[in-house]
Amino acid sequence: MRPVVLMSCGLRESGNAFGGSLTYVRAMELAGGTVVVAPPTLGEESVAHLCSLVDCLLLSGGVDVDPAHYGEEASPANGRVEPEVDALDLALARYALRTGKPVLGICRGAQVLNVAAGGTLYQDLPSQRAEQDLRQHNQLAPRWHATHEITIDGDSRLAAILGAGVRRVNSLHHQAVFIVGPGLRVAARAADGVIEAIETTGPGFALGLQWHPEAMLERHPDQIAPFQALIQAGKAARTGEG
Ligand code: MN
Repeated sequence: MRPVVLMSCGLRESGNAFGGSLTYVRAMELAGGTVVVAPPTLGEESVAHLCSLVDCLLLSGGVDVDPAHYGEEASPANGRVEPEVDALDLALARYALRTGKPVLGICRGAQVLNVAAGGTLYQDLPSQRAEQDLRQHNQLAPRWHATHEITIDGDSRLAAILGAGVRRVNSLHHQAVFIVGPGLRVAARAADGVIEAIETTGPGFALGLQWHPEAMLERHPDQIAPFQALIQAGKAARTGEG
């Protein structure tokens, strides 16, 4: 049986509702998973119930996380926040970190994973790292285009998924992981030092990617690998529960 993936989505107001999430559904279908969508405003008990019924979780991209969730107030450059989506995503991420349910976070999803673990974010890379030789992380190229390099740590589990060393990814973010949360580690960085992937140091599968592999698939088919890895982890967890 195909593993079932529970995916979060944003709100219509931000143009980030279910319509914007179809690329994730296509990627998970291609990887062998079946997606169901968790809507914002679900209660924490319902979130936990839904999570217990599925094999793995996907935290999708979207708007900025409310900095209150990592102990800060929003700077002028922090973007739109959606409190209901924050509540849903953080509940999903905390469930995954608490139980070991396999989870893949994409872009905002990676940031949510880090905040759920107790880490912090750059609210705005261009203003907070203005003194440094920053790459263009909010690319003006088409979404599928690989615009900057990342280096994947050879000791990371991400290296087993995508290979160690340098590769190119797309980049559609102005925020990023700042302080890595306890229980997580850096798996890849851009050349300017910006964190591009985090993963759990524990035994489970928890991976956050700052880029958007689902948007690259048509031109870079090898970017299916992280989705396949999530599905495999979901299968393995199900067998383990068996
Ligand atoms: Mn980037």
